[in-house]
Amino acid sequence: MGRLEVKVLDGTPPPFTRMISPYLLICGDEAIMIDSGSRTSAEALVEQVKGEGVRLKAIVLTHIHLDHGGGAGSLYRLLGSVEKVLVHPRGLRHLVDPSRLWEASRSYLGPYADYFGKPESLPEGVVEAPDDGASIAFCGDRLRIIYTPGHASHHMSMLLEGEGILFTGDSAGVSVVDDSVRVEVPTNPPPFKPLLYYESLLKMIRLGRGVVEKVALGHYGFRDDGLGYLERHARDIIRWFKMAYEAVSRGASDPGALAEVLARELEEASRGYKSSNPIVREFFYMGAVNGLLDAALRKEPLPQVAYT
Ligand SMILES: [Zn+2]
Repeated sequence: MGRLEVKVLDGTPPPFTRMISPYLLICGDEAIMIDSGSRTSAEALVEQVKGEGVRLKAIVLTHIHLDHGGGAGSLYRLLGSVEKVLVHPRGLRHLVDPSRLWEASRSYLGPYADYFGKPESLPEGVVEAPDDGASIAFCGDRLRIIYTPGHASHHMSMLLEGEGILFTGDSAGVSVVDDSVRVEVPTNPPPFKPLLYYESLLKMIRLGRGVVEKVALGHYGFRDDGLGYLERHARDIIRWFKMAYEAVSRGASDPGALAEVLARELEEASRGYKSSNPIVREFFYMGAVNGLLDAALRKEPLPQVAYT
């Protein structure tokens, strides 16, 4: 058994880079991957895994959206070493038969569905759903599963206990560098559940300082001062929620109008809105706008007390 190492991989399909980050937990010549990139980034990820000289034995998915779980079936086929793929129980059947997930993704994502590609299916016996709170022993450390619904009903985060690294997937926003400007926006496509999202965020914050030292985001890479990042996101997101709900109550009823209002009122939103990178502007920012609009129109409950 070797020393545990955690590396960020780039699972962004070309022509873009550093927007989607799976992680590799390496122990000697064995590895576990957190998230799998998309179908269209699988070949590049295979090269990255081979470059580390390790045998990938398991993949743990934060959720099944195409940019996180879409590559798992292809990595399984291409590497031939993956024994288990772990996913939230609500995601399990979609990995075995991705056809409904694919249809839903196409109708929501439009051209981005093809950019990420149609997931390959996984054999039933390979896919398992761990319980909330379960932990996986690896390299003398433990990877604890923490269900964090909200972004999606099938979302879970993972805490690597000894290292103090919390893998948040899409449960704690996006923080990417675009043209040397850091853009931080929520990531919450429809059907978005603001209250569940917020409760999941508090669940992660309550793990406490000392337990969470770093966060490892799905988009993109590590943030040091992990707990500080989560606390800031919890305060920020309340402003996004309120602003969106107010704009909708004043009559904003289409994504374009809401996108403009948010960009005018919130500095973080304006950075997403102005970005020339379509992943940042259309996929992250407009994805968040669409989710907030949908939640406001459906009158989804909001958290009553903001985190301070
Ligand atoms: Zn994502």
